[in-house]
Amino acid sequence: MYLKSIEISGFKSFGKKAVLDFNVPISAIVGPNGSGKSNVAEAFSFVLGEQSIKSLRGKRAEDLIFNGGKDAPRSNRASVKLVFNNVQRIFNIDFDEVSIERVVNRDSSSEYLINGSAVRLKDIVELLSSAHIGASGHQIISQGEADKVLNSNIRERREMIEDALGLKIYQNKKDESVRKLEKTEENIKQVESLRREIAPHIRFLKKQVEKIEKMFEMKENLTKMYHDYFRREEEYIKFEKQSISTEKHPLVEKSHKLEQELAEAKQILAKSSSKDSRSDDVVKVESKLKEVRALKDNLMRSMGRIEGEISSLLRLIKKQNETNSAMSKKTVNLFEVENVAKQIDLEIADATDGGDISKIKQIFASIKKILKDFIEKNKESEDKESIADLESEIKKLETEKNGYDIKLKEANNLETELSEQYSFLKSDIEKEKDSNRDAEKSLFRIVAEQNEIRGKINGLNSRESVLKHNEDELNRELQEASILVGVAALRYKDFWPTNADGVALTLDEIVKEPRQVQEDKKHAMEKIKIRLEDAGVSGGDDVVKEYKETTERDTFLERELGDLVKSSESLKALIVELEEKLTTEFKNGVTKINIQFQQFFTAMFGGGSASLLVVKEKKKKKSDTDISAMAEIDGDEIQEEQEESEEGLDIEVSLPKKKTKGLMMLSGGERALTSIALLFAISQVNPPPFIILDETDAALDEANSRKYGEMISALSKYSQLILITHNRETMARAGIIYGVTMGSDGVSRLLSIQFEEAVQVAK
Ligand code: ATP
Repeated sequence: MYLKSIEISGFKSFGKKAVLDFNVPISAIVGPNGSGKSNVAEAFSFVLGEQSIKSLRGKRAEDLIFNGGKDAPRSNRASVKLVFNNVQRIFNIDFDEVSIERVVNRDSSSEYLINGSAVRLKDIVELLSSAHIGASGHQIISQGEADKVLNSNIRERREMIEDALGLKIYQNKKDESVRKLEKTEENIKQVESLRREIAPHIRFLKKQVEKIEKMFEMKENLTKMYHDYFRREEEYIKFEKQSISTEKHPLVEKSHKLEQELAEAKQILAKSSSKDSRSDDVVKVESKLKEVRALKDNLMRSMGRIEGEISSLLRLIKKQNETNSAMSKKTVNLFEVENVAKQIDLEIADATDGGDISKIKQIFASIKKILKDFIEKNKESEDKESIADLESEIKKLETEKNGYDIKLKEANNLETELSEQYSFLKSDIEKEKDSNRDAEKSLFRIVAEQNEIRGKINGLNSRESVLKHNEDELNRELQEASILVGVAALRYKDFWPTNADGVALTLDEIVKEPRQVQEDKKHAMEKIKIRLEDAGVSGGDDVVKEYKETTERDTFLERELGDLVKSSESLKALIVELEEKLTTEFKNGVTKINIQFQQFFTAMFGGGSASLLVVKEKKKKKSDTDISAMAEIDGDEIQEEQEESEEGLDIEVSLPKKKTKGLMMLSGGERALTSIALLFAISQVNPPPFIILDETDAALDEANSRKYGEMISALSKYSQLILITHNRETMARAGIIYGVTMGSDGVSRLLSIQFEEAVQVAK
């Protein structure tokens, strides 16, 4: 026994929890109409994942929850739990007991649980299908659906049979593979389109990269040339600088010396320019001498004159003295004597008048003086005129002569001084004349030498300015090189030029190389630069990176495409394989079912024949909902392209002793028996763990009920049966009978009852 129990709580009329144990092959559920028996069958459908509320006889999920009754409150949730014995691992799960539970809440939310753990519906379906319990519910035949298998179209019938045969799992796999294939093909298209999209970009980038690689090659070449050129240039400039400096140094020194010498010579000559002033001095001294000498002559002349005068005066005095010796014989003028007598009279008169002694004394003194002056006067006039005058004249002349003499002495001194000055000046001028001549000679020599040195220095200077130009040019080239080929170009210091055989050159070989060779190299480099500029590829590294990334992406896409194609191929193969398996299994299954069908059918009807026929039907491709289920007769051609054929199952029956054929011609009871025969046949080929038959025996008469009962007994060997029935015959075969009652509170209740009771209930 696989099915252990069902636990119903809050589901439909089961307002209170009810548990049904199924530990016998056949269990029967009996009860009056409307007591809730079919709700038990629906509880099975519900817990097995039925998604159509309509097929559970409801409109909304809420209709599945106990709605309350008199004195019974409504439930908030409906739950149904099935418990299976899994010791034989009919379910692919490592538990000895498996419970499957479904809960629906008033807010329509649904929960599924396996052994108490929440799972998805998909998990439930998978678990069930591993135990041949299909989602199509073929193992639950609801009330009035006994002939469902007869009424359904060929496709539904095929699905039902596939489900019963356990092929659903393959079908699902196939559907899933088809979906995957569609998705894969979509991905393939996408990847192909992506690759198509990037292909021109890759082509463009490839061209760019080729250009860039060529450019890199050129750059590399140029870098090598730069290294050689820069190193040689630098060594040349260094060497040239050094040699210019070496050559220039003594020249500069010599030049400075010459400057000094020149200055000295110039100084000497400058001094000679003061020659004129010295000449002036000479002239001045000469004129002064002249003046002094003229003065001397005048003085001499004056002195001569004075001496002449003095000697003539001396001569006169001698003559006078000779005259004076004759003077004592001289006669005095009477008048003058009378005049003196008068004066004395006057004086005496004064003294007589006064009579005073002192006065008289004074008058005597005056008379004495008058007499004396008279004598002297007569005497003097003679001297004066002669010797005294002459002597005074001589004295005067001598004084004058003495003055001249002093002046003459002074003039003589001045003359001596001036003469000395003159001769000094003269000799000085002569000396200067000599040194000027030397200085002039030096000047000529210095200037000549200076000119020569200047010429040499100028030569060196022009070499220097050429070198400066070279240096500037080198710096400019270095800058340009770093921009053009990057810093690698500046690493020329690590490089040393070699000859064609790779032998390192000597410094001498480098610096002595004709400059034209460097010029030619520069020219060659210029040509490469122009080619580089013409290449005009910018952002080299970025483009290479982008090309790399894009090709990597393309390679990735190519690989992905390969993988997708492979997986598409393997999916296609799998689909083919599954289709083949489905076809084979289906056909084998149908064959097996047909054997059973025929047996059950003849058992039911006592003869006749019944079989399933594999047929093809036309299906309009356009609409999935509007599937025309027209069976296509073998040999008919498919007319319309938009139609595709689908394999389905038809039923062919022929009753014994009756000419009529086909399902349409069967009576209600005949239909019920046929469908039961088919259901039993299906169940026997691939028995599900349990089968629920809700009043499938309702339409059977007594004789057929017996046959039905026999078939049930046979079937119960393969599957556990839960039979909802009013049929006594059927009840008689059940191990357990559950009676379902509904009280005035509208709640279904369960109780295990005896057969007799059951018969009573059924009645
Ligand atoms: P019959 O023998 O006539 O087929 P039955 O025993 O199979 O009858 P069911 O169809 O199982 O009876 O039960 C129908 C009963 O369940 C009705 O009385 C209906 O009112 C009740 N029922 C259905 N849904 C609910 C619900 N949500 N809440 C309460 N009762 C419900």
